[in-house]
Amino acid sequence: MKVGFIGVGNMGGPMCRNIIRNTNHEVVVFDLSPDAVKACTELGASAGTSVADVASRCDVVITSLPIPKVVEEVTLGPNGIAASAKPGTTFIDLSTNSPATARRVHEGMQAKGIQMLEAPVSGGTVRAADGTIVIMVGGDAKVFEQQLPLLKSFSGDVVHVGEIGMGSTAKLINNMLAFCNAAAAAEALMIGKRSGIDLRKLDAVIRNASGMSAGYANLATKVLAGNFAPTFALDLAHKDMRLALEMADELGVPGLIAPQVMSLMRMARGMGLGGDDSASVMRVYEAALQEQVRAEAKA
Ligand code: NAD
Repeated sequence: MKVGFIGVGNMGGPMCRNIIRNTNHEVVVFDLSPDAVKACTELGASAGTSVADVASRCDVVITSLPIPKVVEEVTLGPNGIAASAKPGTTFIDLSTNSPATARRVHEGMQAKGIQMLEAPVSGGTVRAADGTIVIMVGGDAKVFEQQLPLLKSFSGDVVHVGEIGMGSTAKLINNMLAFCNAAAAAEALMIGKRSGIDLRKLDAVIRNASGMSAGYANLATKVLAGNFAPTFALDLAHKDMRLALEMADELGVPGLIAPQVMSLMRMARGMGLGGDDSASVMRVYEAALQEQVRAEAKA
């Protein structure tokens, strides 16, 4: 089978490389970044010349793109996937979108005889690289069954959550929760810093105690090392939180916690940190208190 992969950045890159390593499929990649493409062609993929080129010659086309606007351009735009892929092609979007975007893209694909799964992922770049990422899939059950071997080739857990839109719904709820945990972790670490406790020891306690969460672990690892190079950019986290809050509003759920975390993200972006890692919410506290939360790694 020929598999096209469009958007091979922080997440798409490692997932695409796992497909190359773990299957016999012929893989064709396209990305606006030549370096991102090179990291996949070095492993045996071939480079497509455009979205239309990849879409027109593959049986399955996968995307992992930054924001809904780009997803809509690449899928429904004049030279996009819907306009270029053959009827009978399957399109799988791994990006994080709103349920409404997923449904709109699905309608555009259906009109051209293209089947679609929305399949957002969770686990960050580490689990994308080690092949244990979680995939939550929305779409037709038959298409899901057809594509399960491919999805399993680069993930640890694949859950079919329902019709198109439900994958994005699960993803936005999950991320809202993770960002709230991460923001609470930032506040906790600043209290720890001010208290004078050994931050390495505090961290060791939390990692084995009831305060532990993926949000805590990710933020603490980056903050204590002072490493804010983006594996998950604050701009993308802010996009996810905005979509989650829109969903909460549409459903009439009044938020108390998530809107506060959104304000924290807005402040961090206002400080010019949008391109840095989402753990940069810590730096709002650091700027306010003129104090950094860092700890030397254990020798
Ligand atoms: P990224 O910016 O690292 O990668 C996106 C890639 O898409 C880039 O290489 C970029 O050059 C490429 N691209 C952009 N526009 C394009 C176009 N028109 N045509 C072809 N390529 C194009 O972002 P990422 O962190 O890999 O995130 C991708 C998606 O996965 C996002 O929707 C994000 O919310 C989601 N996600 C990210 C993480 C994470 O930890 N980074 C975790 C789960 C989900």
